Amino acid sequence: MAIQSVGVIGAGQMGNGIAHVFAVAGFDVLLTDISQDALDKAVSLIDRNLERQVSREKISASDKKAAMDRLSTTLKLSDLGRTDLVIEAATERETVKQAIFEDLVPHLKPETILTSNTSSISITRLASRTDRPEKFMGFHFMNPVPVMQLVELIRGIATDEATYSALLDVVGKLGKTAASAEDFPAFIVNRILMPMINEAVYTLYEGVGSVQSIDSAMKLGTNHPMGPLELADFIGLDTCLAIMNVLHDGLADTKYRPCPLLTKYVEAGWLGRKTGRGFYDYRGETPVPTR
Ligand code: NAD
Repeated sequence: MAIQSVGVIGAGQMGNGIAHVFAVAGFDVLLTDISQDALDKAVSLIDRNLERQVSREKISASDKKAAMDRLSTTLKLSDLGRTDLVIEAATERETVKQAIFEDLVPHLKPETILTSNTSSISITRLASRTDRPEKFMGFHFMNPVPVMQLVELIRGIATDEATYSALLDVVGKLGKTAASAEDFPAFIVNRILMPMINEAVYTLYEGVGSVQSIDSAMKLGTNHPMGPLELADFIGLDTCLAIMNVLHDGLADTKYRPCPLLTKYVEAGWLGRKTGRGFYDYRGETPVPTR
């Protein structure tokens, strides 16, 4: 089946980036969220990000207009039932995602492919809550979506070959590169990245270094473009903690124990850039370390 229309659930950091790249690549995009405010912010952010691409001559002004014309929003999840491909990019909590798929399924066309952008949650388990585990896959984009080249493709135990090939074809149309991962907690990227971030938080917690020294050490000492604490703020500390919990529960190994300091930041509502404060305070002109 040719995929032309795409429904995106969740208009946060990832949902807006996903909507952006699909609209630029010529797909009709319908974006939904539980919050009208999130939808309005996402549309104006996509507009600004497209404008930046125009000013850098990555796309033309008419490409931008065409992309904006292909983008629409709705508060009604059921409206996504008419799309060919659904990408769920809501909050990283299994109960939230399960409820979304259960509410959506009765409205779907038989051929619609369902995917989740989850960073860590079992694709097989999410698929089992739907009427079409064979047409269900993990479709894991990286942040920021318009910039990052990789898309991780994760097959659940029941995913069929036609669904995998259809998504591989979509990744090609987006001009991105796919890496396939088996369905085990956090797949490839976050299985490796998140324990490093968690260890950076332990390093801070144990007083081995300050926020500044840990980030400088990793940037200048290992050539990472961002320090691990800066990166954690960029991802969202709630998402980082949720992924560590999935690793800890799913692999039952104490090496994945989330750092209590990470838990404390999340409990404070200091979730990183998206709330204005995390390991850095972003409310002023330049980010200031909070420890
Ligand atoms: P976010 O907090 O920025 O956005 C989540 C959005 O989901 C919010 O706008 C919220 O209103 C919406 N939402 C919550 N419940 C909903 C529901 N029932 N229906 C519709 N919308 C709902 O989070 P994010 O960083 O965009 O992450 C979204 C997903 O993408 C998560 O599964 C996360 O693991 C994954 N992901 C995140 C990153 C990252 O770097 N942040 C990278 C790759 C994948």
